[in-house]
Amino acid sequence: MNSLPKINLDRLQATIDTMAGIGAKENGGCCRISLTDEDKLGRDQFVTWCREAGCGVHVDAFGNIFAIRAGSRPDNAVVLTGSHLDTQPNGGRLDGIYGVLAGLEVIRTLNDHGVRTERAIAVVNWTNEEGARLSPGLTGSSGYAGDLDLSLARRIVASDGARFGDELERIGYAGTFSRRALDPIAYVELHIEQGPVLEQHERTISVVEGVQGVRWYEVELRGSDRHAGTTPMADRQDSFMALARIAQSMRQAVLAIDPDVRFTVGRVSVQPGSPNTVPGFSSFSIDLRHQSTGLLNRIENVLAAKAHAIGIEEGVETAICRTMIVPPIEFDKSIVETVVSIAQSAGCPSMRMNSGAMHDACRLSKVTRTAMIFVPSRLGISHHEDEWTAPDDLEAGANVLLRTITSLADQTERQLNVVAAEDVISAHPRSLER
Ligand SMILES: [Zn+2]
Repeated sequence: MNSLPKINLDRLQATIDTMAGIGAKENGGCCRISLTDEDKLGRDQFVTWCREAGCGVHVDAFGNIFAIRAGSRPDNAVVLTGSHLDTQPNGGRLDGIYGVLAGLEVIRTLNDHGVRTERAIAVVNWTNEEGARLSPGLTGSSGYAGDLDLSLARRIVASDGARFGDELERIGYAGTFSRRALDPIAYVELHIEQGPVLEQHERTISVVEGVQGVRWYEVELRGSDRHAGTTPMADRQDSFMALARIAQSMRQAVLAIDPDVRFTVGRVSVQPGSPNTVPGFSSFSIDLRHQSTGLLNRIENVLAAKAHAIGIEEGVETAICRTMIVPPIEFDKSIVETVVSIAQSAGCPSMRMNSGAMHDACRLSKVTRTAMIFVPSRLGISHHEDEWTAPDDLEAGANVLLRTITSLADQTERQLNVVAAEDVISAHPRSLER
């Protein structure tokens, strides 16, 4: 293990700095929103670097860019890594970008040391992960995974009225590369954590086992509009007071089931919204997340029971409706274990984790063996100019990626198939609903 080459941190940081200069903001962050002029410049720079590193560069119809370093056996399926170069309007310089440029650094390092892998290695920049201008995000990876039809994607309208397809052509990244020409044996995405857990546990590497399932609910409470001065407290059907009690008791009940649950009330509506009227109608949203479908089902029943019981006490009618469901994703167990042992042998303190955020890897998990690696984010800050990761952590993450990618690229088909046969549960995770 120690004889393997290591990445060049100075070069990786200089590459990240150069990319951060395209769409640079005054406080060190970056605004390189998908399919804008800045995105085109960032893409052009990435393509130039990849060609300089000897890669063949290809673009598909969704604008995804694939830079391929040939392996010694051209008939073998490739190992894919990467992430996204687009940012939020006030984004940082690492979210997504680190994963793409660390992939490039892996290729440069293999070149430096004359290492030839059996399989080809490809680095990808997925189009419009963030969805900041063209919503929803994950457009490129969804298209690649067959979750999004090209004609539908091309009709996505940006917040400024432009269309995805027109913008892709305008910046010169509507390509013809076919997914069939690149049937990856595995996809590994390196990313900053975007949360505080690694930092709090003083670990360098997180091996991501999966992505939390998400469920959205809308809760409606119907009481009666009444005069705020003339209606005695005992005679009210106050929808807001019911809402406050229900939301609070739901949070308590959920935390008692598992402190790892994420429960958020992010939107509240109170009507008629007048200071001197007891509100007759209130509603609120719930965003609920956890890794276990069984536990999410159980919590769903508890939420309904709490709303019903408190509604009766408060004299209001309650209705709870599920408006969205995204099942949890499990990443490939064999790659997860490979990353765990690589981090261990590299002396990196690591931990297993589930991701609370969606990533391109969620889409890729539908079509190939997939895993993710996280490095710490200072204070958990992301989608913000203050996003920062210590250089040592950037280096450790890129070295773990290097070893993971080369290990996968040198495994024979037989070795991979044996692993796959032992791992039927995670090899084909469920697809996402939108
Ligand atoms: Zn990202």
